[in-house]
Amino acid sequence: MSSQIPQNHKAAVAEKEGGSVNIVDVPTAKPGKGEILVQLKYSGVCHTDSHALIGDWPAHASFPLIGGHEGAGTVVALGEGADKYHQIGDPVGLKWLYSSCLNCDFCAAGTEPNCQKAECHGFTKNGTFQQYAITDASHATPIPKGLPLDAAAPLLCAGVTVYKAIKVANLKPGQTLAISGAGGGLGHLACQYARAAGLKVIAIDTGDEKKKLCDSYGVSAFVDFAAEKDLVAAVKAASEDGLGPHAAVVAASGAKAYEQALEYLRPTGVLVPVGLPPNATIKMDVFWSVFYSKQVRPSYVGNREDAKECLQIADEGKVKVQYKVKGLSELPQVYDDMHHGRIAGRIVLDLAR
Ligand code: NAD
Ligand code: ZN
Repeated sequence: MSSQIPQNHKAAVAEKEGGSVNIVDVPTAKPGKGEILVQLKYSGVCHTDSHALIGDWPAHASFPLIGGHEGAGTVVALGEGADKYHQIGDPVGLKWLYSSCLNCDFCAAGTEPNCQKAECHGFTKNGTFQQYAITDASHATPIPKGLPLDAAAPLLCAGVTVYKAIKVANLKPGQTLAISGAGGGLGHLACQYARAAGLKVIAIDTGDEKKKLCDSYGVSAFVDFAAEKDLVAAVKAASEDGLGPHAAVVAASGAKAYEQALEYLRPTGVLVPVGLPPNATIKMDVFWSVFYSKQVRPSYVGNREDAKECLQIADEGKVKVQYKVKGLSELPQVYDDMHHGRIAGRIVLDLAR
């Protein structure tokens, strides 16, 4: 490896599930076959990182763990065969998927997140809350050269996830999409990708700051889930014919959003579950689900093409991440703010401080 690559680098390490995160020096590894070493400059903080650390999901991360899966940096070393995908100096992004087998039915069909051998940054593999990270070259996403790395980082999970979820909703321009959690990391990008696709948006979240942010994207209405007494009626009333939106992307961190979405959707409406609140269930009465023909189509991140497309749209200036930059050492405070719903848009960590 080049002499400029340090022996050790700074990382945010959690020793155990439910434990604290400490900034420590860790050894910089050499990339193996098919892998690259990326010098990371920025990483977004996704609510998933908090779930992984707390351990409130039925699936559990491997510990000790370096979390994070919205990384942006440049390639500084190539393992054997990795030059098929990237060259030294290329700007790349690290997303949720570290690797997949690229050979099974799921990978062949472009549903690689469902590959049974998929590995994930910040969950089964060390992630992006560190200055240098190893990743599988095949899944690292090229970042368009015009897109600054800090502005690109949150697109690697939040962006690609909602871009894909809107595809799954499969609406026509002019139709109405409800976005629940609209002022959060995923939600504020969903508002923009939906508007870029010609959809009308009913944004659901809480507080003046998030309302202002959503309004700036030209949403048709903002419904405050904490202040509104009858949220279902308010969302229906905000749709053009009063029957409710054609689809809902639920990117909320609270479980109640799912119950409400099934109620406010119009007949034949599509619920796209994206947010993963712990202990949440989707209950559908069989009679009414048939009578109203509502559908549930869950969406799990996106594939390599989705990632490239979502970055391309941002590079064209149609979508802009709303973010504040903080230091790596501020990660515990970021999690606290996230739990209390105090973050409008995304927090991006500057990994140099
Ligand atoms: P975030 O904390 O940035 O945003 C969540 C938003 O939901 C906040 O603005 C909050 O105010 C809002 N909210 C909470 N309860 C609500 C309710 N009842 N109704 C409407 N809004 C409500 O979180 P994020 O990083 O955007 O992630 C959101 C969720 O999506 C997390 O559970 C995360 O794990 C999940 N996620 C899923 C995928 C996937 O592939 N399906 C990918 C990334 C993240
Ligand atoms: Zn994420």
